[in-house]
Amino acid sequence: MVLLVDLQKEYESISEELNYNLQKVLNSGVYVLGREVEKFEGAFSKYLGINHTISVNSGSDALFLALKSLGIDKGDEVITVSHTFNSTVDSIVRAGAKPVFIDINPETYCMDVDKIHENISDKTRAILPVHLYGHPADMEQILELKNEHQLYVIEDACQAHGSVYKNDKIGTIGDLGCFSFYPTKNLGAYGDGGAIVTNDKELMEKLTWLRNYGQSQKYHHDFLGFNSRLDELQASVLRTKLKYLDHWIEMRRKNASIYTELLQDSGLTTPVERPFSLHVYHLYVIRSHMREQLKNELEKHHVQTQIHYPIPVHLQKPYTQIQGNWELPVTEKVSQEILSLPIHPWMNYEDISKVTDCIMGVLK
Ligand SMILES: *Cc1c(COP(=O)(O)O)cnc(C)c1O
Repeated sequence: MVLLVDLQKEYESISEELNYNLQKVLNSGVYVLGREVEKFEGAFSKYLGINHTISVNSGSDALFLALKSLGIDKGDEVITVSHTFNSTVDSIVRAGAKPVFIDINPETYCMDVDKIHENISDKTRAILPVHLYGHPADMEQILELKNEHQLYVIEDACQAHGSVYKNDKIGTIGDLGCFSFYPTKNLGAYGDGGAIVTNDKELMEKLTWLRNYGQSQKYHHDFLGFNSRLDELQASVLRTKLKYLDHWIEMRRKNASIYTELLQDSGLTTPVERPFSLHVYHLYVIRSHMREQLKNELEKHHVQTQIHYPIPVHLQKPYTQIQGNWELPVTEKVSQEILSLPIHPWMNYEDISKVTDCIMGVLK
């Protein structure tokens, strides 16, 4: 069986260290907002090269609280993509604002930055690009539009821990960067978790209050708040794993290059890595008009695959009511053709060639 992700192998590779660290937390008697959370937040900030990390309960909450901290609310519009995980857009709606969908670049699968300008209205408050699959969106043009129109930029970096755009780590380029630590992400907890990162001290303070019932001091509630915290056990898991993140990214990149080499004569569309960027291959996504045959054949050979994502967000039930004449031809076409192949740090050459042999068998 070739698994899409292999969290058991990941655990085995660092189990001794993890168990030791978790036992320490259990012995400590402090389980929420203690030293472990502080230490992880510090370590993650240092890794990214940013001033502040505010850990929260999930990537979804990171996005939602990021929007809230900027005061985005009813009547506001947020420009984003439809080719993403539903949660990106749910967060905008949950904050009360209206998502404005724009199409994607057919090579990077990220926001088509040439389409942003025509979608800016006097209600637009923010641009929310998604660094999908681990490849950065084209931030330079996004930042130009931000400055020109005085907009906020919130990065959905939930699939892009460690990814780089030019000289900066993804998540540190906009006003706020949002991460998920869902177990299958490149940096995952053993439960739910997320974080918002920023260089802005005021936003950091506001987010620290928002995640903790709106309290600025104990029992002083200056905002309508929420309960959205990372717990000490998850923080300990994440701090232990963070040390290995770059190594794991390297292994993903190596596996991706083996795939791309073995598939080079297949006629399939394989992932690109733009010169300005470091792709961290959260997912290795190919495109083919024979997607269904490939998926079925791989399943027969005990190779797990997935489609990220089969139905664009604007065509999902809750969103069909949102007004807008969305013209998203690339998004809609791509959703019919994409297929995510297994890519994780514990795959070896044999696993990968098993997958590609099976693909070549279908295509010949
Ligand atoms: C995983 C993910 C989220 C949501 O994160 P959760 O921690 O599962 O809430 C949001 N956006 C993208 C692009 C994701 O991949």
